Amino acid sequence: MQMEKKDIRALSKEQLRDFFVANGEKAFRGNQVYEWLWSKSAHTFADMTNLAKPTREMLENNFVINHIKVDQMQKSEDGTVKNAVRLHDGLVVESVLIPTETRTTACVSSQVGCSLDCNFCATARLKRMRNLGPDEIFDQVVAIDNESKLYHNRPLSNIVFMGMGEPLMNYNNVLKAIEKITSPEGLGMSPKRITLSTSGIPKMIKKLADDEVKFKLAVSLHSAIDEIRSKIMPFSENFPLKDLREALQYWYSKTKSRVTYEYVVWRDINDNKASIDALVKFCKYVPCKVNLIEYNPIDDGEFQQASEASINAYIQALEANDIVVKVRRSRGKDIDAACGQLANKEG
Ligand code: SAH
Repeated sequence: MQMEKKDIRALSKEQLRDFFVANGEKAFRGNQVYEWLWSKSAHTFADMTNLAKPTREMLENNFVINHIKVDQMQKSEDGTVKNAVRLHDGLVVESVLIPTETRTTACVSSQVGCSLDCNFCATARLKRMRNLGPDEIFDQVVAIDNESKLYHNRPLSNIVFMGMGEPLMNYNNVLKAIEKITSPEGLGMSPKRITLSTSGIPKMIKKLADDEVKFKLAVSLHSAIDEIRSKIMPFSENFPLKDLREALQYWYSKTKSRVTYEYVVWRDINDNKASIDALVKFCKYVPCKVNLIEYNPIDDGEFQQASEASINAYIQALEANDIVVKVRRSRGKDIDAACGQLANKEG
């Protein structure tokens, strides 16, 4: 019976060094392989040209590199690129490259499907199939970095965890991926350029604070009134805003890092004064800014973007209270690459 070969990227640098010593080679070979895997993003053992052929063969006999494969790439008229990413077991996730004048942002997935049930999000309908491994998250970033260099002549500048999935429900793997992305032995990106977006799981936000992470935090708030929030994001019934607020206060006390609230204004749902007042009040608990996101329709019209006037009412109220607010226009809508539209339609 043939044993299934292990993915070599599950090994730490120490474990790689130990493997070489156990096989009668010098420990530093472990460092070389580690560099090939994480810094040079080698897809095959044959790429590792500073290793002798028998060494490469030994690796080949013991391990696999489960690299992702970009199956299909769609380009939007606004320059946004969406990758359909095939994983080693055949499942597919999506990641998006979003170019602006000054930056290129990668929007990456953390789960196949999603554990949560936000009614306005296409990914929620897929349910969660599995968590992504650290290497699968890392590979998405490398693929977008390469595309950024190819199409925009500059490396990737920012990463947002706003693709498929709830990153805080795949906590360990997401943190491991970020560790590789930020490490000088990986991509060496500054954590300040990485934003993790969560639907707001208080216990895990506190854990982030305890783990003293250096990246930024965004919370998909959408309503600061429990009754409304649990209607549009049913899971949040178990996580009342009081707990979310307390977790965010804890986050800020530990990290001193301002929180971003993502908020969509929908017709007849939160386009009213009570909702605006509640948001303004919520924003006073911790230093924050608000991103008003344009709604990307996903279906039958149950949710509809609110009127310009309602959005302006939000902007006025927030600004009058000295809260920074930005309106985020959708990108890549024509290829279903915008927020909440990732649902493997072509897959
Ligand atoms: N699960 C994480 C990250 C993925 S969603 C989270 O909830 O934050 C990324 C952002 O897109 C979230 O703010 C989410 O609320 C928003 N979003 C989801 N569906 C949307 C839609 N149809 N239109 C606009 N934004 C949407």
